[in-house]
Amino acid sequence: MEHAPEKPLIPVRMLNEFTYCPRLMHLEWVQGEWQDNYETVDGRFVHRRVDDPSRTQPSIEDASWHLRSLTISSPSLGLIAKLDLVKGDKGRVSPIEFKRGKTPRVPNRAYDPERVQVAAQCLILRDQGFDVDEGFLYFAESHERVPVILDDSLLDLTHHHIAEMHQTAVSEVVPPVLIDSPKCPRCSLVGICLPDETALLQWHDETGSQPIRRLIPSADIKVPVYLTQQGTSVGKSGKRLIVRDHGTTIQEIKMMEVETVCDIYTITSYHML
Ligand code: SF4
Repeated sequence: MEHAPEKPLIPVRMLNEFTYCPRLMHLEWVQGEWQDNYETVDGRFVHRRVDDPSRTQPSIEDASWHLRSLTISSPSLGLIAKLDLVKGDKGRVSPIEFKRGKTPRVPNRAYDPERVQVAAQCLILRDQGFDVDEGFLYFAESHERVPVILDDSLLDLTHHHIAEMHQTAVSEVVPPVLIDSPKCPRCSLVGICLPDETALLQWHDETGSQPIRRLIPSADIKVPVYLTQQGTSVGKSGKRLIVRDHGTTIQEIKMMEVETVCDIYTITSYHML
């Protein structure tokens, strides 16, 4: 009997990225691109306490327990996650995901990428035999814990994104850029993805309109000139700089190639305009 090929284990945080923008997940996971911005650095700072794994292992039979930084996976879902905090209460288990910032004022008090991330963490725990029917998002700035209930619509959305993400992970085709999306200015990879530039080039390709001009920036070929010998003098003749040693010309340089003249004896420098 043939076995279905095992899915690669993809971190659940990539499912968050995929739900935000499939192209972002492809850039980070498939192409290995990474770039920090304020939000990613602040997010790491918020996670510093829960990134320190618990030293003691609670017993699942205990009435109530907490566990920090627990790595858990589900080969059948093809997912792996490092759970910030796991709470056990009378046999029920819930993951708690820490987030920077305040609780958003949107329906469900959380955006889909974060809700899908927590739902996927719950599914992994269920797959490992735990009794799970909700997870939580903890927003560090507002100190609020927002429940994420595993209802049918969230489970459908989560399973849909897991399946699509696995297809994208093995595809060589980079998902398209988002068009005029408010997500892009906040995206840490905006400088690598170049959404507006890419969309403009695609639009030109598709419409066959006039080709875009290639703009070639000027090369900065100017160099500094250092006068290192005592008795050296400089003068100008036409468009050339003349360097003399006790009256004898030792070098001529085109003025357009000189950025600065530095005299290391008098420690002065002259910038060429
Ligand atoms: S810049 Fe926009 S299109 Fe590009 S990866 Fe980020 S969110 Fe997606």
